[in-house]
Amino acid sequence: MNEHFDTPDIGAADPALLRRLAEALPAAALLTGAAIDPRYQFDRRGRFSATPRFLLRPGTTGELSIALRLCEEHGQPLVVHGGRTGLSGAHRIATGEAVLSTERLTALGAVDAAAGTLEAGAGVALQAVQEAAEAADLMFGVDIGARGSATIGGNVATNAGGIRVLRYGMFRAQVAGLEAVLADGTVLSSMRGLEKDNSGYDLRQLFIGSEGTLGVVSRVLLRLHPRPEAEANALVAVPSVEAAVALHDRLRRLLPSTLSAFELLLDGAFEGALAHMGTPRPLSTRAPVYVLCEVQAPDAAGEARLAEVLMEALEEGLALDAVVSQSRREFLALWALREACPEFVRAHDGILGCDVSVPRGRMAAFLTAARAALLPIDPATLFFVFGHIGDGNLHYVIRTADRAAAAEAIYRQVAAHGGSISAEHGIGVDKKPWLALSRSTAEIAAMRRLKAAFDPRAILNRGRIFD
Ligand SMILES: Cc1cc2nc3c(=O)[nH]c(=O)nc-3n(C[C@H](O)[C@H](O)[C@H](O)COP(=O)(O)OP(=O)(O)OC[C@H]3O[C@@H](n4cnc5c(N)ncnc54)[C@H](O)[C@@H]3O)c2cc1C
Repeated sequence: MNEHFDTPDIGAADPALLRRLAEALPAAALLTGAAIDPRYQFDRRGRFSATPRFLLRPGTTGELSIALRLCEEHGQPLVVHGGRTGLSGAHRIATGEAVLSTERLTALGAVDAAAGTLEAGAGVALQAVQEAAEAADLMFGVDIGARGSATIGGNVATNAGGIRVLRYGMFRAQVAGLEAVLADGTVLSSMRGLEKDNSGYDLRQLFIGSEGTLGVVSRVLLRLHPRPEAEANALVAVPSVEAAVALHDRLRRLLPSTLSAFELLLDGAFEGALAHMGTPRPLSTRAPVYVLCEVQAPDAAGEARLAEVLMEALEEGLALDAVVSQSRREFLALWALREACPEFVRAHDGILGCDVSVPRGRMAAFLTAARAALLPIDPATLFFVFGHIGDGNLHYVIRTADRAAAAEAIYRQVAAHGGSISAEHGIGVDKKPWLALSRSTAEIAAMRRLKAAFDPRAILNRGRIFD
């Protein structure tokens, strides 16, 4: 049984529906029984959910439209699966649901260099888009650790963020056009890629970040960016979170067009990631806070400017120590340290990971208050906090004996400091109990009205975001 859902067991799949699906779709698009790989039943963290009634794998928008229409007519609830790397539990199967996977929607178009766009099917992996852009001497603006498995459709549905949001924006900013299919099979296609189109509502925006509750994204026209000629990063030891925020503000002021990432690692996450990787310390100085920043510049002068600005920060005591990458190998090694943070925390039991955001100016106060609230719950709490400080986004990860009480304490502190209980991973199922801390009653009511308008029988991702 799936402990996360109240959905009653509504019996086996309707044979009439299965018959109609089998008649209308190619064999590869419908799997039942033992033909369904068990992997769909487990989430990213290895938690079992439920056995799907059947598995739909449409290979075209037309097949997707037919599959949705028939399921809607028979009232068959569906959970949409992309790469299943989501961290909010949304793709865990509820009892009675069938899985709709985008794994066969993998058409990847050619890069349109003149327009700076690339068309991708919903099931294309993010990394494939990045590589296609690079092959055309362009770049894609979003990068996340799960790039090899996460799909473009999943990225749209979660409005994925990642490490370069401060330069390129969230996934929403990468979408030049979008096609989505509603629960009743209606295809809404807006793939012209027009910069300006104020002819009524911009319906595309509704699907971005809607976590599969309003429709299934089938194709996306993605914006590409000029590839930087020079890239460099630096690891900086700083005396406090306040100093990290001040350093961020200074870099943004002095390197406005080249600063592309500014990541924060508190000492617990930094030391843990180092130990996990088994690599030597890149900096001899020990500090409570570390920053990993990156510039992407049109020429080598941009790299040199980063070193100059950091040197000034060192002289003024804003930074305690710094190392600037001098080669591609060093550049990648510093990023590997940052990417080791989630791997390191996943290797522990009793971990609670909260993806939250707070206004940058209140980040230090939030961290102090959250710690003060958590230690009485479990004095042995271990803190492994890291995040994208440029966007006020913290991955507030702790090891605690009481995860439920700790989560409540963290989200209440987030709300008290004007933040959001979900910065980039969405609400899914896991964060539903706290949605009202970030959204007003009126906002949630408006979301429900949208859901009812787009999916009146609630067949798509039922019980995700809200009940
Ligand atoms: C190691 C690691 C690092 C990560 N780093 C980041 C990060 O830096 N930033 C970040 O934002 N996230 C990050 N994530 C979370 C995750 O990778 C993103 O949420 C990603 O966008 C999910 O894509 P997916 O294809 O795996 O979607 P899934 O997990 O399959 O689905 C996620 C949600 O989207 C829905 N969905 C999927 N495809 C579609 C579609 N075609 N149409 C409609 N709905 C759909 C699902 O039903 C579900 O609600 C990370 C995850 C891991 C494991």
